[in-house]
Amino acid sequence: MAGWTSVAHYREMVFEGQPLTLFHYPMSCWNGSHQSPSEGRGSIQIFGHLHGQTRGWWRCVSACVEVWDWRPASLSEIIARSEDNFFATPLHEEVFPARRRQVRCATCGNIIDRGTADGGYRWEGDQIVTFRGHPVVEQLCNWPEAGAVNMTATDGLFCAACLEVTLAYGDLSEGRHFRYAEGVTLDLVAGGRTHANRCS
Ligand SMILES: [Zn+2]
Repeated sequence: MAGWTSVAHYREMVFEGQPLTLFHYPMSCWNGSHQSPSEGRGSIQIFGHLHGQTRGWWRCVSACVEVWDWRPASLSEIIARSEDNFFATPLHEEVFPARRRQVRCATCGNIIDRGTADGGYRWEGDQIVTFRGHPVVEQLCNWPEAGAVNMTATDGLFCAACLEVTLAYGDLSEGRHFRYAEGVTLDLVAGGRTHANRCS
């Protein structure tokens, strides 16, 4: 075909060292998709079809111009977006649990959907930040265990309800034990929307 080296419905290839799987539709699973990062780069699937609906998932990237400012994307941009698309496809969540979209709150066990709004909260130094790292609360001094529900745990993700209870009903005082990041209020914490409301 004029202007094209080859045309195919499906193609596996290695381009500049990166295994690629090319298909018009997004796939749940493809050759090389389960390869762990320590074994080298897994295959990235590049798809179209969905136009502006999604940028894709981890290792499954849309090449539609609607999500690339109406231009072709380079391989390095595709690889970067593959990492930026944090969540794995549902079939890969079992293999790569760190990329799971839904996780349990470290305190109460309720499901946190990390793909929506704040996506849960975690400690980062003396700050509590959203899943994606936007500051919510700064810790001003050590918190009494009893007053902090179980937010003294240093790993895991906390749900909006647990953070709200800690800030509003524990033995913590605003100004003494903590202060809110700019633009954050208790209402926004309770709604899990501290980040969504501050960013355009
Ligand atoms: Zn919770």
